[in-house]
Amino acid sequence: MTKEEIFAIVEEEDVEFIRLQFTDIFGTLKNIAITASQLEDALENKILFDGSSVKGFAPIEDSDLYLHPDLSTFCIFPWRPQQGKVARFICNIHRTDGSIFEADPRAVLLDAYDKARQSGLNIFIEAECEFFLLNTDDKGEVSLNVKEKASYFDIGPLDMSENIRRDIVLNLEEMGINIKSSHHEIAKAQHEIDFTNQGAISCADAIQTFRMAVKTLAKRHGLSASFMPKPFESENGSGMHFKISILDNEGNNLLLEDGKPGKKGMAAVAGILEHACDTSLINNPLVNSYKRLKPGFDAPVYVSWSSNSNRSTLLRIPAERNNQIRFELRSPDSATNPYLCIAMLIYSILDGVEKDLPLKEAINENMYSNDIENVKRLPSTLKEAIDEFEKSDFVKEKLGTHIFGEYLNAKKAEWDEFNNAVTDWEIKKYLERY
Ligand code: GLU
Ligand code: MG
Ligand code: MG
Repeated sequence: MTKEEIFAIVEEEDVEFIRLQFTDIFGTLKNIAITASQLEDALENKILFDGSSVKGFAPIEDSDLYLHPDLSTFCIFPWRPQQGKVARFICNIHRTDGSIFEADPRAVLLDAYDKARQSGLNIFIEAECEFFLLNTDDKGEVSLNVKEKASYFDIGPLDMSENIRRDIVLNLEEMGINIKSSHHEIAKAQHEIDFTNQGAISCADAIQTFRMAVKTLAKRHGLSASFMPKPFESENGSGMHFKISILDNEGNNLLLEDGKPGKKGMAAVAGILEHACDTSLINNPLVNSYKRLKPGFDAPVYVSWSSNSNRSTLLRIPAERNNQIRFELRSPDSATNPYLCIAMLIYSILDGVEKDLPLKEAINENMYSNDIENVKRLPSTLKEAIDEFEKSDFVKEKLGTHIFGEYLNAKKAEWDEFNNAVTDWEIKKYLERY
């Protein structure tokens, strides 16, 4: 879209407010709203904000940052009033001297994407987003008291939220995000919406837009949407699976070479496995994330891959074959920062291909029911993930020292806070017995 086209739409559609959006290093979408009268300044990249007020961004003595709107992300929020409409841009962040702001997660992804293109790799991703739609109590607080009995692929009236899913899908389509399918997931009150195949940057942008739309529309229906990875101990958590295809510049699928598994594609898979543990803190960022990665809940526990539909491994090759062949990464969860997560995924693929890493044998058995020996485990707590992250030169180099340091310190503080908390579990277990 050109600037002229955007001015024309703002005029014709009666757009009054424009949100300039960006994401912080922890994956939270932020925005500043300007009025349409400021559009010209915004499109000349003249809108400043205070970076010191965003956790992990900039110090107080050097806090001014500029928002550079990405014109291709312009869209109108369909759920806002139809007179005096609200539109948005997703922005890149720059310093006052014009240089790219190194703590902008979108900049990390743009860089990773460029490096992949330079290496002749074109990476496409289909994201599968799981989430919970929960009731609120009389006080408007979100409640874990779920009335719904629906499970995998169920239909209404058992599925009590099919109308909300419909609303979410229609709104996203109107915003230019193509949806492939949606369904009720296995856990009570759990849902999944899958996007169509797209490039890495538009995929991360779409995930952020999606989270905002889901939260907003759920609220309109009197519910509360949650992307917490594991709200119920005995139910599945919420994953953020990525179905990934890698094509060379001629459009050949790297997973396939003369009808056999392609050498480069296999090295790419090896690269992802190689970095499954040191990138875990990005893929699974919360204390709660590690409660999802337990046997028996369709989430991975081991650093493993399968050449078939085995859903107990970290990576699997779904049933599509021929030029459609791709792999599914199953470890990231619904709370991940999609920009950093996809950037690290791209760098892991590049590392595998550049070093021609060997791929270990596929494991096609159920990894939850067998005794597993000699297979590395994913970190099983946030603390283990912090340790893997901290000692990784790869992660430090690819994220850059600013994000690496800020992210690490915040996660250490989060772990300490959790360790110091006296939890409900402790009270139930110990208060009366001791
Ligand atoms: N909810 C599962 C997870 O935590 C995934 C279920 C599925 O295969 O769709 O990743
Ligand atoms: Mg699913
Ligand atoms: Mg899946």
